[in-house]
Amino acid sequence: MNEIVESFLSDLKLLDVYRSDCLTVFRVASHSTGNHCPKCGQWAHRVHSLYYRTVQDLPIGNKLMVLRIRSRKFFCDNASCTQVIFTERFTGLFARSGRKTSRLNDLLTHLAFELGGNPGAAMARQMGIQVCRDTMLQRIRKSEHPEPTSPQEIRVIGIDDWAYRRGDRYGTLICDLEQHRVIDVLPDRRVATVAAWLIRHPTIQIVSRDRAGAYAQAIRQGLPHAQQVADRWHLLKNLSETVHRFLSRQRLPLREKRSRVAHPAHDDPEPAPDAPSGTPDETTQTTVNPKTMRREIKWERVQEVQQLHLSGMGKREIARRTGLSRQTIGKYLTWNEVPNTVRVKRTTVLDPYRETVCELARQSMKGPKILRHLREMGYIGSRTTVAQYLADTRKKDLQSGTCLIEQSRRRVSPREATVLVTQKESEVKASDRAYRDQLLREVKGAQELRDLCMSFRLLLDTHDRTPLCGWVETALQSQVQEMGSFARGIQKDLDAVSSGIKGPWSNGQLEGQINRLKMLKRQMFGRAGFDLLRARVLHHA
Ligand SMILES: [Zn+2]
Repeated sequence: MNEIVESFLSDLKLLDVYRSDCLTVFRVASHSTGNHCPKCGQWAHRVHSLYYRTVQDLPIGNKLMVLRIRSRKFFCDNASCTQVIFTERFTGLFARSGRKTSRLNDLLTHLAFELGGNPGAAMARQMGIQVCRDTMLQRIRKSEHPEPTSPQEIRVIGIDDWAYRRGDRYGTLICDLEQHRVIDVLPDRRVATVAAWLIRHPTIQIVSRDRAGAYAQAIRQGLPHAQQVADRWHLLKNLSETVHRFLSRQRLPLREKRSRVAHPAHDDPEPAPDAPSGTPDETTQTTVNPKTMRREIKWERVQEVQQLHLSGMGKREIARRTGLSRQTIGKYLTWNEVPNTVRVKRTTVLDPYRETVCELARQSMKGPKILRHLREMGYIGSRTTVAQYLADTRKKDLQSGTCLIEQSRRRVSPREATVLVTQKESEVKASDRAYRDQLLREVKGAQELRDLCMSFRLLLDTHDRTPLCGWVETALQSQVQEMGSFARGIQKDLDAVSSGIKGPWSNGQLEGQINRLKMLKRQMFGRAGFDLLRARVLHHA
């Protein structure tokens, strides 16, 4: 037993153990006869005095574990050494003045980095280690972050921004594209900050970046000889933004509506608003009609009552067993089948106006205005009756694909149209094709825009930059002014774009790193400062 415990205590000798409800204490001492003097390194064994020190260790069974260490002070017998007395060192187990063992410290640091302040502390407490949030955060702040790769090795980097808060504050993430790891996180995306960082890393030869001007300028300032690469993903993003801007100012053709159900529930070609659902006899066996289900369950119940009665049981006894009333049992005993109940539809004051309500709603008139119309026509019912009828009919439209109120055609958002225009032919869904063709036919300039998009995507796909200048020339002549400005942007940034088209480098991997950063940011509820976020992003990087 002691051997097992001692193997856990590494170099220490177990003297005794005592435990209370919340604590286990191991009284231990060192095996060794002496210690090396920390000053001169000479072996010393002459004991000056004994004392006890207390160190917290990894918990056992979710309870605090404490090492009570019988520790010694030694005389250094080296005549030339200035150190006369020194305390015993326990190298590897805990630091000289540490109150926690190294392995406990490692665990807490790990928890802090993986989970953050509050969740890390909560997890530690669950394991039996008493720590508070702030000490967990201090662990992150105090940890050293060695540069993941020495500056000499960095050759190709990707640089992109990430949002503290979208549209408000941005930071910069820098990745080593060859080693696939985050090198640094900068607190903003200003030219001065980025340029200063680049100057400190003169070995960088290639920088992949987005299309915004700030990073381009920073690279020109910080590393004028580095090759700039316009990131392919950002090129495509800019292209689709161009199309979106154009389509946003167009009147797009209406599109047939997709109903939620492929086939209308009613076979009736002209379903009336309140058409009664089919009676159980009409339903086929394949469809599970809730009404039929209820009838079957009830019929089983009736048969059970009749069986009990046949076996000679009285109504009172049956009532006690089944929980039904004696009146109900009397009724059940007379039944040969569950009678078909037909619910009589209530008439309401709205009945004469139903058609009008649908008609007005179809003209996209809102509830209050419809009510005013009805009042003029002599409607004396309440507002809620109209509102309820509208809501019910809309729901029915949606569920069964009927068109009592809703238009059968809808307006298409510019975003949706952009996808259709910029998609490759092979990516277009069969159901979208007819509308896409109509869009290209009816919107002036759309076909031209699509042709330019396709030829630009071909450049990216084939990594062939020779046709780029020709493409820019064509695009500059375009009738679509948005495409003209996109082409002018490319023209200004021609070297970087052509490197982006040809070269193997892109910021694809930054996407994943930025997602990880966002995950950490949200874990800290947006309260953590930049230093904390940076420390956690660079940890494990
Ligand atoms: Zn010494």
